[in-house]
Amino acid sequence: MNVLTKTGTSDGHAADARTTALHSEIANLRQLLQVNEARAQVNEARAVAEADRAEDARLLVEETRLVAEDARLRAEDARLVAEDARLEVARVNDSHKEQRRMVHDLIAVGADAVIVLDENYVVTYMNQQAMDEVSGGDSCVGCALLDVYPHIESTPFWPRYKKVMEERVSIAFEDYYEPRKVWYQVNAAPVGKGIAFFFRDVTGRRQRDAALQRTEKLAAVGRLASSISHEINNPLESVTNLLYLIQTSISADDETRTYAQLASSELARVSHIVTQTLKFHRQSTDACNTRASEILDSVLSLFHGRIVTLGTAVHTRYAATDTLMCFTGDMRQVFANLIGNALDATGERGAIWLRTSHAFDPRTNAPGVRVTVADNGCGMSPATQRSIFDAFFTTKGATGTGLGLWVSHEIIHNHNGTIRVRSCDTPRHSGTVFSVFFPD
Ligand code: ADP
Ligand code: MG
Repeated sequence: MNVLTKTGTSDGHAADARTTALHSEIANLRQLLQVNEARAQVNEARAVAEADRAEDARLLVEETRLVAEDARLRAEDARLVAEDARLEVARVNDSHKEQRRMVHDLIAVGADAVIVLDENYVVTYMNQQAMDEVSGGDSCVGCALLDVYPHIESTPFWPRYKKVMEERVSIAFEDYYEPRKVWYQVNAAPVGKGIAFFFRDVTGRRQRDAALQRTEKLAAVGRLASSISHEINNPLESVTNLLYLIQTSISADDETRTYAQLASSELARVSHIVTQTLKFHRQSTDACNTRASEILDSVLSLFHGRIVTLGTAVHTRYAATDTLMCFTGDMRQVFANLIGNALDATGERGAIWLRTSHAFDPRTNAPGVRVTVADNGCGMSPATQRSIFDAFFTTKGATGTGLGLWVSHEIIHNHNGTIRVRSCDTPRHSGTVFSVFFPD
């Protein structure tokens, strides 16, 4: 501006030149400005591009992060599913274990002995009862059945086990196992590839059943004998009367009379036996006073035949008075049992002693009557003596019922009495004394 304020022509040229110069300066400045603008635009564009790239990169990072997160979540899901599965397996295992323990406990506490065999008849399991029954408490797991039961092949048990093994069917049976002399009740069934059998010793029950059957038979025979005795009584009386007529007939000679006399004395014995048999069966409903010695004699007459056959010496010593208030039938049963046992124990040419006496209860000192039945028979071991009053205890095998002393004990107890036994089984000094006391 300072240049324009100078006047004159030269000044005009100079002014023009300055104007031109100014114009070109302006043009330069404009150009510069444009360049700067363009540069700024370029810079701006660069900055925008830079920002876009940065955004892209950020987005990429973000996307990558999301993918990673997704993968992590999926992995977590998979882990949770796996954990669930693991828990489920553990639960199933636990429940299997629990079930197995329950089955084991059930088998262990049951009354039956249990043995499980594999397909080669080798023992794979046995419970305590089976060990006690078979091998004295030891386990036989791993042993072949034929080693545990060497004789089983010759028993009826073997074909049955084979049937279960081969035909895969269950069977139940009861049979006598001869090698051990016991009755077994058995349930056998296929289990897995092998078999299991549950068994228990039922010898006691079988013996009791047999004894009860025998007792029933005896009772039936008793009833029969008693009704026969009753029927025999009438003709017996007629024959007795006829014999009497023969004995007193004047037309009969001496020999005939002697025979008739012999016949009637024999008949008297028959008649006595018949009355005794009837008495045995008839049970009076009321207790009554009866002499113990009378009861003993009536029992002796019943055993007369056996006593004669065995050649037993019978010694009796009765008190002058030995009256008991009792049910006579019951009491006869007691002494029949005691005398019957004494005869069993003595065998041939033995001796028995029957005594009645006044005595005092050793515990209460109360007065009463004592009846003793003694014999010089085989006697009893202390172990036998401890069991003789148990029902079904007998040492006589099939011929004994083991009920005689048990019943006698009951009857004596019901009469407020007591029974004691002393016995010795030393050879040549053996013998037994049963002593029964009834308070007055
Ligand atoms: P059972 O006579 O049927 O065997 P009991 O109950 O009468 O049954 O007797 C049980 C057991 O007591 C007999 O098997 C026998 O062992 C024993 N016993 C009883 N009395 C005598 C005796 N007088 N001498 C030896 N043993 C006896
Ligand atoms: Mg007996």
